[in-house]
Amino acid sequence: MILNDSLLALLSVIVTIIVILSMEGVAWFLHKYVMHGFGWFLHEDHHRYTGKRFQKNDVFGMFFALLSFAFILSGILSWSNIRLAIGIGVMSYGIGYFLVHDVFFHSRIRTNYRPKGTYLKRVLQAHAIHHQKSTAHTGVNFGFLYASKVPRE
Ligand SMILES: [Zn+2]
Ligand SMILES: [Zn+2]
Repeated sequence: MILNDSLLALLSVIVTIIVILSMEGVAWFLHKYVMHGFGWFLHEDHHRYTGKRFQKNDVFGMFFALLSFAFILSGILSWSNIRLAIGIGVMSYGIGYFLVHDVFFHSRIRTNYRPKGTYLKRVLQAHAIHHQKSTAHTGVNFGFLYASKVPRE
């Protein structure tokens, strides 16, 4: 079956949205079970505020940046809309993660922007609690762009 162009475009958008939503689950899982688990040696400096420009913890972000780059490049080279859509989804989540977590919360890039929306404030509050209450193998609020009304896990 040959998909026509508009159907393929719609499918690509749906794939991108599904990937963005799934990435929060992937990030949550990785944060809870790997970063606060056997990968703690890489995540530890994020919880200790070394004051350095770069952290070992940045390898996680780099991994997903390379993954999205690989999908985008392979999508372009092989004319695959779906690979391109997956790559754009991973990249979009990464941009959201970087803005909310690294810029708004940790101020790694200084801006005058002050979050006003209640949802964004809730997400930032949840991450503040994560930093207060988490240790190598225990913790709360492992999500990055999603936070439930009652902050937990
Ligand atoms: Zn953590
Ligand atoms: Zn953090």
